[in-house]
Amino acid sequence: MEKQLYQPLGGNEMPRFGGIATMLRLPQRDSAAGLDAAFVGVPLDVGTSLRPGTRFGPRGIRAESVMIRPYNMATGAAPFDSLAVADIGDVAINTFNLLDSVRIIEQAYDGILEHGTIPLTLGGDHTITLPILRAIKRRHGKVGLVHVDAHADVNDHMFGEKIAHGTTFRRAVEEELLDCERVVQIGLRAQGYTANDFNWSREQGFRVVQAEECWHKSLEPLMAEVRRKVDGGPVYLSFDIDGIDPAWAPGTGTPEIGGLTTIQAIEIIRGCQGLDLVGCDLVEVSPPYDTTGNTSLLGANLLYEMLCVLPGVVRR
Ligand code: MN
Ligand code: MN
Repeated sequence: MEKQLYQPLGGNEMPRFGGIATMLRLPQRDSAAGLDAAFVGVPLDVGTSLRPGTRFGPRGIRAESVMIRPYNMATGAAPFDSLAVADIGDVAINTFNLLDSVRIIEQAYDGILEHGTIPLTLGGDHTITLPILRAIKRRHGKVGLVHVDAHADVNDHMFGEKIAHGTTFRRAVEEELLDCERVVQIGLRAQGYTANDFNWSREQGFRVVQAEECWHKSLEPLMAEVRRKVDGGPVYLSFDIDGIDPAWAPGTGTPEIGGLTTIQAIEIIRGCQGLDLVGCDLVEVSPPYDTTGNTSLLGANLLYEMLCVLPGVVRR
């Protein structure tokens, strides 16, 4: 059977401010069957520790994605010419119960992955990456990880809870979801609960790139190093929007000054080209704190850039 490809609805067929706001104005599908890659929303914010609002992240990102056109003019990537991509809607999380939500997300991703589909996730707070990685492990085994964030998210607990948006990667290590020698964390900064906070990551074998190491420079050389570190197996890309400076991405729950630029964000994602990416997420966009829509706009464009570096994308 010939593969069914889909194109985003063009601005000359329906005004960009009209129609149903699916991700990139792609068709909506009920399941991942037949799709090489699928956009999926996880509207969860009950794992967050300061400002809420990421429950509106998938909606905000979809709304700001309407101007994105099919062809990547910088890299030549033409994702819709070779990959079948659609928006499969949101996971029906239980907003009254975080642990039940984690169970629901895990189950939903098992269902997506069984079709061989690569999930591109619209968060949601960073808690969602744990159940996604659990499902990814069942399908692909341990993965390498490119994790962009202001925070390491390796707390042992938050307010006594083992599952929250700041514990995700400690749980992922404990549950052996990660190939720790193939993990890089980029953009970490600000203050710790102890002076040692980032060293726990280093002790696991992660390469930790604090934000200061990124200041005032292109990240292309860093990404050559990152590719060498994480290559050699399946890789997951988890992008917390608070890795970017609040000047560009104010709409998020736990902002930290001195962050990465939007240009560096693009360099990081384009620098992942050639890796065996098996899933990507863009988390922590909180539209209630995003008065201009710029944070959602950035999130939408970064998700498009992630799509452009997936295995099998043709270049023109
Ligand atoms: Mn995070
Ligand atoms: Mn963060």
